[in-house]
Amino acid sequence: MQLSRLRIKLKGAVQGVGFRPFVYRVAKELGLRGFVINDSRGVLIEVEGSRERLNRFLIELHKRKPPLAHLFSQEIESLPPTGYKDFEIRESEEEGEKEVFLLPDIATCNECLKELFEPSDRRYMYPFINCTNCGPRFTIIERLPYDRPNTTMKVFEMCPECEKEYKNPLDRRFHAQPNACPLCGPWLSLYIPSGELIGEGKKALEVSLEMLKEGSTLAVKGIGGFHLICNATEEEGVKKLREKKRRQEKPFAVMFRDLSQVEEYALPTDLERALLLSPERPIVLVNKRKELAPSVAPGLKRVGVFLPYSPLHHIILRSLPFPVVATSGNLSDEPIVKDNDEALKSLSEFVDAILLHNRDIKRRCDDSVVKVIGGSPTPLRRSRGYAPMPIKLPVKLSKKVLAVGGMLKNTFALGMEDRAILSQHIGDIENLTTLSAFSEAVYDLMGLYDFTPELVVCDHHPRYETTRWAEEFSKEKNIPLLKVQHHYAHILSCMAENSLKEEVLGVAWDGTGFGEDGTLWGGEFLLTNMSGYKRVFHFRKFKLIGGEKAVKEPRRVALSILFHIFGKDASRVIDIKKMGFSDKELENLYIAWERGINSPLSSSVGRLFDSVSSLLGIRQKLSYEGQSAMMMEDLYDPSVKGHYPFELKETEIDWETLFLALLEEKDPKVATSRFINTLVHIVLGVAQEIGTQKLCLSGGVMQNDPLVSGIKNILEDKGFKVFTHSKVPPNDGGLSLGQVMVGALY
Ligand SMILES: [Zn+2]
Ligand SMILES: [Zn+2]
Repeated sequence: MQLSRLRIKLKGAVQGVGFRPFVYRVAKELGLRGFVINDSRGVLIEVEGSRERLNRFLIELHKRKPPLAHLFSQEIESLPPTGYKDFEIRESEEEGEKEVFLLPDIATCNECLKELFEPSDRRYMYPFINCTNCGPRFTIIERLPYDRPNTTMKVFEMCPECEKEYKNPLDRRFHAQPNACPLCGPWLSLYIPSGELIGEGKKALEVSLEMLKEGSTLAVKGIGGFHLICNATEEEGVKKLREKKRRQEKPFAVMFRDLSQVEEYALPTDLERALLLSPERPIVLVNKRKELAPSVAPGLKRVGVFLPYSPLHHIILRSLPFPVVATSGNLSDEPIVKDNDEALKSLSEFVDAILLHNRDIKRRCDDSVVKVIGGSPTPLRRSRGYAPMPIKLPVKLSKKVLAVGGMLKNTFALGMEDRAILSQHIGDIENLTTLSAFSEAVYDLMGLYDFTPELVVCDHHPRYETTRWAEEFSKEKNIPLLKVQHHYAHILSCMAENSLKEEVLGVAWDGTGFGEDGTLWGGEFLLTNMSGYKRVFHFRKFKLIGGEKAVKEPRRVALSILFHIFGKDASRVIDIKKMGFSDKELENLYIAWERGINSPLSSSVGRLFDSVSSLLGIRQKLSYEGQSAMMMEDLYDPSVKGHYPFELKETEIDWETLFLALLEEKDPKVATSRFINTLVHIVLGVAQEIGTQKLCLSGGVMQNDPLVSGIKNILEDKGFKVFTHSKVPPNDGGLSLGQVMVGALY
């Protein structure tokens, strides 16, 4: 028989995921000889056997690879046979090798779950069960390489039985760094707010479950931080939690025992079901079926639901007859709490007890949020389960780039060669606490990857905290700083994740971003390629009366639009009173508008949504960002046909005719639907005018499903190709990816 030998080099997330034992099994099955070994960039395999078997091996390698393995590249070399006698797993030769692809935290796998609830198993009901296919990674690692002494598990010495598993290449727990059992691993403890220890281990769990059943709220330590947890079907508890957290209406996420419990309360589609069950276990926005406690997601058709992802969650949810609110344990506007002493200090006021454990969380990592938009799963927050998986770029960077992102929903990114590593969700950076959390996270991730930036990129906005931070950083490290226009970065991020380098028509619509002319942009059409962009169309500008105040009060934007159209007579034309302004206020607001006092100009589509929501009586003031747009999305009715007129004037989209028609409409549902239809037709109109065949949609407004679906349907019908986000958020959480791309131009 003719023998051949293949040398296969695989790069990607192939270490610490049970890849070598898998290769071993496949090679043995096929009677092949050779070896598999981890090297500094991934896995190296040599296999020897017949041509036909080698081909089968290559197919099986991809078909059956472990669920957590992600391959980024494969090199195959054909060599003369060398006469291997057997197949073996070789120990890595180099010590201290760098695992380039650090893995995210992964939800408890089915095999561990079976053991968790099997009374005869030695890990029965043990809240820290894990294996090579599941468990914490990103949140426990202190430095590379990913080895137990370099994780927060270093303080736990494995018992002989755990060690046996850890050392056996054929065991599911071979080199599972957080491997533990009740004899040797971490344990739970329960405290009451006064700081008194109530119990440990089983007792801590039992008392916690009793308390939750009786309606208490608990802080529970998870994978990337603490959750505040209470019965999601009891209004009293949920309302109390809102009051204590000073969180008026922003929806809470709800954790369910399993898919069948989700389906009692919500109507997930097949795609949403698959997302809920994925190993990343994000929060998924799904339509409600029956109301949980009314305060969970007030005024919205959708609710954020997720399934347990740590063994502790599984135990809690299986022991309770109801789903639970599971919201980030933090003070408002502050990062999620991750440390025990911090929790005892700052979460005590919110809860009746604190359930913690002694496996330290090295870095905080919030839950991820995904929504199906235009038929594709789209992250609204990319964090636990996804970060820090790299994103492949369509360009090669000549320098190492640190991109600091924006101000809201911040993520930052490290760019190197042909990939970007986006950080976990850092949050809104609006005060010193969040800024120092941001800074800490940047140094942490750079340290982890041994990353020394040669270029730093930030937003163009002079008042973003991240911009100031980047200015200082560039001075301190003596490296160049690039400032990138906000909406350009949005479009580049969409291009990056869709592997586009050619010219596209970028549609960047959001709340506001700093424009190059000093006004607040947010309704932009940018003809974009790798060397820059041209602002080919934008919405007619209007004044935001009161600046930041207008962002929180849709009625101010509506009033401004009316002033623009009708001048001082606005109140005679329509009933402005329903907006809730007094006569005196109206007079002052008119003066502010006319003279431009604290009334910056804006072309933002996000603000146009706000103005419409005010004019239709949907919402006059917001209690969280994006609230009016979410409520309008819920009102959208696909059976309503038609749209309002608009005018394309040179490079400006005039909305005056749009609003005149909208004001005539009686039914808010019809008006909302036609408003969104109009935006779809504006994109079509501009696309036809410009003629570029490929479009990229980005910016926070593109989180709106009927809008994105409408644009995709109508434009693709006309032969355009529409690209959207599916790897990073369309909102400012995706900005850092676009900023990294600019590094390639530098
Ligand atoms: Zn497992
Ligand atoms: Zn053990």
